[in-house]
Amino acid sequence: MHVQKDRNQTDAGRRTPDADAGLNRTNSLHSCYLHTKTLEPMRKREFLRLTGIMGAGVVVAPFFACGPGEPNTEGGNASEGDVPPPPPPMKEFTLPELGYAFDALAPSIDAMTMEIHHGKHHAGYVRKLNAALAETPGFEGLDIAGILENVSPDQSGVRNNGGGHFNHSMFWKVMEPGGANAPSGDLAAAIDRDLGSYDAFKESFFSAAKSRFGSGWAWLCVGENKKLFIMSTANQDNPLMNKVVEQTGMPILGIDVWEHAYYLNYQNMRGDYINAFMEVINWDRVAEYYAVAVS
Ligand code: MN
Repeated sequence: MHVQKDRNQTDAGRRTPDADAGLNRTNSLHSCYLHTKTLEPMRKREFLRLTGIMGAGVVVAPFFACGPGEPNTEGGNASEGDVPPPPPPMKEFTLPELGYAFDALAPSIDAMTMEIHHGKHHAGYVRKLNAALAETPGFEGLDIAGILENVSPDQSGVRNNGGGHFNHSMFWKVMEPGGANAPSGDLAAAIDRDLGSYDAFKESFFSAAKSRFGSGWAWLCVGENKKLFIMSTANQDNPLMNKVVEQTGMPILGIDVWEHAYYLNYQNMRGDYINAFMEVINWDRVAEYYAVAVS
């Protein structure tokens, strides 16, 4: 990693912070980590841009660091007084804007639920993710997808809160008002091809969401074979977590079935909430994710 330090210093002067963040985090995935099979870097970047969390990186850009604790194997012993430069300051994740009014999805999802869910629950995941990353080495330089791809089952702070941040960021986007209320085009064709029909999709997705015991999510994903499949994860786990979940894929649609997502309006009637969610899915947004996933 000694070479990268020099490149960092060169890069620092000629790229914007945002451009740096994207490029360096992508490159760091290439150079430092093996577990990038789910998403190729270019698709990953486009995907994160679409989810609105591209700019919310962990690291101030000009470092390709694999981790500050990595030993320098070059140059022999450092002489006394030869103090290495401090590690880069960590750039913290921030809560993304909801992008629409809290009552925009009413009556399917009520305003108070949206306000608490975004402003309290999601904000909490972001805050705790930053805290967890500050005390969990090994994620320096990674974007949120890279963090999920590399997190181990026992790294619960990063696992739960990194998942929480990604999952909710996507959740707000796939409900954003204004898009098509049914799939069309390539995505509709893929649903027919891989899941049978749109009705069969709705049935399977409903079932995955309804039958998730306790808290979790149901997902529509694109697998490595570029085929669609439906899965469900517990708690804040995510299909990108290839060290955690049994089947990995690129999520293009997710529903939160934690009680905090629906209890104020639907109480124990999760099925009613799932049906209401189906009514507000922005299928244009899902189609954007799908296009990136299969590109
Ligand atoms: Mn939630």
